[in-house]
Amino acid sequence: CGIVGYVGSQQPSGRPLEVVLEGLRRLEYRGYDSAGVALVSPGAPLAVAKKAGKLANLVEEIDMHPLPAATAAIGHTRWATHGAPNDMNAHPHVSDGVAVIHNGIVENFALLKAELHAAGVVFTSETDTEVVAHLVARAYADSSDLTVALRTVAQRLQGTFTLLAVHRDDPTTVVGARHDSPLVVGLGDGENFLGSDVSAFIAFTRDALELGQDQVVTITPTTVTVTDLAGTPVEARRFTVDWDA
Ligand code: GLU
Repeated sequence: CGIVGYVGSQQPSGRPLEVVLEGLRRLEYRGYDSAGVALVSPGAPLAVAKKAGKLANLVEEIDMHPLPAATAAIGHTRWATHGAPNDMNAHPHVSDGVAVIHNGIVENFALLKAELHAAGVVFTSETDTEVVAHLVARAYADSSDLTVALRTVAQRLQGTFTLLAVHRDDPTTVVGARHDSPLVVGLGDGENFLGSDVSAFIAFTRDALELGQDQVVTITPTTVTVTDLAGTPVEARRFTVDWDA
């Protein structure tokens, strides 16, 4: 339902979590039933916290079990379509160093799930989204490139999606993809942002890019690269958010 992504390696190490929680707060108006975050940092395991209920529940969980310093983070507020609104089904969904958050519905998830089952993959949630995490992890194993992995997987998905992914082994990159669901980029100084709408990063920047249909974006602290699903570079529309936050 609400999506935030952040990367900024030269910023204070607590900033990725701070930015993502602030973004999720500003996306609360959309309604949601659970919330979660994933953090990556060099040489560290993926750190994930997720909780059913209000954002305050997630914040309480993080207060009790603090997350490590990070260079990048993704955050999600879920409005359940497949699977009950509980802790396990909350996003991010994780597979072998990959964390994925998703807005929308993967219509062909049953087919993809059967294929993954047959390959021995064990599922830990009832969501349509979890198939994406496993598929991205497997595609990453082939390419060692998170952008290529997400692009490859996006081509196999039917339905609607805004997807963000991070990988433990690439801690200064967040990759996003969209189809029939919005995704915007916030441009910062030594840091960049992703959001399901500009509310996600309005507290930090008003300089933005709007992604077109079937586009994939890769952000690092100092670069933003947009391509179509085939990997051909495309120009995204740049705009300034001029309304009051
Ligand atoms: N279909 C996904 C789920 O039920 C994502 C729902 C959403 O857009 O928040 O987990």
